[in-house]
Amino acid sequence: MLMCREATALMSLKQDKTLTLREKMALRIHLSMCQACRTCARQFDLLHQAGKHHPASQYNSRQTLDD
Ligand SMILES: [Zn+2]
Repeated sequence: MLMCREATALMSLKQDKTLTLREKMALRIHLSMCQACRTCARQFDLLHQAGKHHPASQYNSRQTLDD
């Protein structure tokens, strides 16, 4: 059984790399039982999505197309 601290560590890790099946399952089970970590997970996802909106590479390729 995962502790909240381990669960948030996995959420953070998930932003940078793909979790193993075992890690995903452990996180999913924890989230199904822990309201605090569900809220935390949603914030991690929102942060991650916000970061995706303006990557430098996309901006550069758009500039090239406009020329
Ligand atoms: Zn928790």
